[in-house]
Amino acid sequence: MEAGTPTLPKAKINWVNLLFIISVHFLAVAAVVYMAAVQFSWWSLGLGLLWLACSSISITGGYHRLFAHNAYKASWPLRLFYLLFGAAGVQNSALKWSADHRVHHTKVDTVKDPYNINRGFWWAHIVWIFYLDPDGKATGVKDLQADKLVMFQHKHYLALAILMGAVVPFSLGLIWGDPIGAMLITGFLRLLVQWHATFSVNSFTHIFGKQPFSVDNSARDSFLTALITLGEGYHNYHHRFQTDYRNGICWYHFDPTKWFVWSLSKVGLTRELKRTAREKIERARESVRAQKTAATTALVEKSANAAHVIAERADSAKQAIAETADSAKQAIAETADSAKQAFAETADSANALAQSVLEAGRPTAPVMVDESGRRG
Ligand SMILES: [Zn+2]
Ligand SMILES: [Zn+2]
Repeated sequence: MEAGTPTLPKAKINWVNLLFIISVHFLAVAAVVYMAAVQFSWWSLGLGLLWLACSSISITGGYHRLFAHNAYKASWPLRLFYLLFGAAGVQNSALKWSADHRVHHTKVDTVKDPYNINRGFWWAHIVWIFYLDPDGKATGVKDLQADKLVMFQHKHYLALAILMGAVVPFSLGLIWGDPIGAMLITGFLRLLVQWHATFSVNSFTHIFGKQPFSVDNSARDSFLTALITLGEGYHNYHHRFQTDYRNGICWYHFDPTKWFVWSLSKVGLTRELKRTAREKIERARESVRAQKTAATTALVEKSANAAHVIAERADSAKQAIAETADSAKQAIAETADSAKQAFAETADSANALAQSVLEAGRPTAPVMVDESGRRG
């Protein structure tokens, strides 16, 4: 695997994407203001929720698990549904989305990964969309290029996105007298919520969560992300077994996309659902456990070695300090002795001097004084 060295993007800013994404954020706020201050309609809000459900499942069950990974087969009415509501998700055509996503899987965490997490959370979440794709073309998707519906959507993606994202919601809003509200809520507020949910798979689940199935890349299993992405949060499992139609493999894992695909298989709309064999999954788990145990043992050994080196260095330092203290003690004692001796010698000299001064001052013969007081 190539090292994921963060580098500055060489591509130029994609102004259309950048301005559109900024506009959608403002229009989503406008939708809330409109509901609060101008007109509130339960019908418009309900339409927004319906579009959120249909468009989200079209990205998770359609764009991702069907088109990008071929995890199952779907009949043409379901593929058409996915392609129409997928266009409303405004995340590019299914063909280009799948091409980018396949590169993400094969080149994950490297400079070739379109949403390489090594470039940071925000790059992986949204910033990568602000740049023009240097390659531009959808490669590695020959299987999808053979699907006429996929190619129809790819060719007319922009028109379909406008139709499904704005025109249809506006027209339906006319029925209950709130076309502006229906378009703002369904077209923009719903789109903003859906975008950030999808984007969180590229950002959150490559940073936060557990890695029970593989430690070879940054993908993680995150229940919280699964909650807002119809089950796409079990991303560690997905990166390990990308053709499995399930992301959450246990029955209690929150994976509505898996339930949706499985339910439709009962009425013939989906078929050939791919599942990874239980033994293979267990082997992956075992391998990760063994790798984690080996890593822990290596860490413990490294810590023990480090502690040993520290103890040895501490002993040497202690010994050096003790030796230095002894030398200092001896030097002080010697200096004190010398000082004492010098002092004693100085005192002796002073005494001798005092003695000589005294002796010099004493009269050598007695001074005679007569009765008149004169000296004799
Ligand atoms: Zn990923
Ligand atoms: Zn995938």
